[in-house]
Amino acid sequence: ARAPDFILRTEGLSKEFLGFHAVKNVSLNIRRHSIHALIGPNGAGKTTCFNLLTMFIPASAGRIYYNEHDITKSDPASVAIGGMVRSFQISAVFSQMSVLDNVRVALQRKAGGTFAFWRSARVLERFTTRARELLAAVNLEPYANHAAADLSYGRKRALELATTLALEPELILLDEPIAGLGHEDIGPVTRLIAQVARDRTVLMVEHNMKVVAELCDRITVLQAGEVLAEGSYDEVSNDARVREAYVGG
Ligand code: ADP
Repeated sequence: ARAPDFILRTEGLSKEFLGFHAVKNVSLNIRRHSIHALIGPNGAGKTTCFNLLTMFIPASAGRIYYNEHDITKSDPASVAIGGMVRSFQISAVFSQMSVLDNVRVALQRKAGGTFAFWRSARVLERFTTRARELLAAVNLEPYANHAAADLSYGRKRALELATTLALEPELILLDEPIAGLGHEDIGPVTRLIAQVARDRTVLMVEHNMKVVAELCDRITVLQAGEVLAEGSYDEVSNDARVREAYVGG
């Protein structure tokens, strides 16, 4: 069977906190192999949406479909195994461990297995080889034996991406990937996201509109919990209601 066009879809997704509608009747359509941004002023419901999509919190109403499977009542571990992985929050970096070991731990977590399995030199070698490949993919090979704590902020983001890739995600959710980065790190991390997105799908919350314009094929604008607009960067940035929301907000 052919893979569905939309890797992730919601219908009427809603979340109420004690009668307050943080997310209202949101329908998202995330096209496979796209980079899709969720934007909107503070309090628009972006984080709540992310928490709903990754099963961190239950929906009050509506449905979530991943590859056309209804996952509305699933849980974070199951959706991660299914290929939807949230980065920069779930995959914390173990700062005292080496860069290489951080990726090996992620690979081991993905593989599961027993202690006896881990004692096999052959198995360990396979993980080391794969971990080095992943580090090369995010340009961290030269830092393999450094302590993760000694990496620059931008390179820690790259390491988090490598540990995310170790889980073999189909869809990566990035929560403000550029936030907190120094000016010199924004370009490299942006390029890295474009690179890892090549044969995957990325959904991200991002405030930096320059980065959104550069990276994203598709943008959904939220305001007060509702979808205000959806389209390409040019479409949404020329939308009168979007301009008003941003100037007014
Ligand atoms: P954004 O990420 O776009 O800034 P949020 O999703 O964090 O927006 O928040 C949307 C609205 O929902 C805000 O008004 C926020 O105060 C409210 N909210 C978020 N989480 C909770 C919660 N656990 N309980 C009550 N209100 C919440």
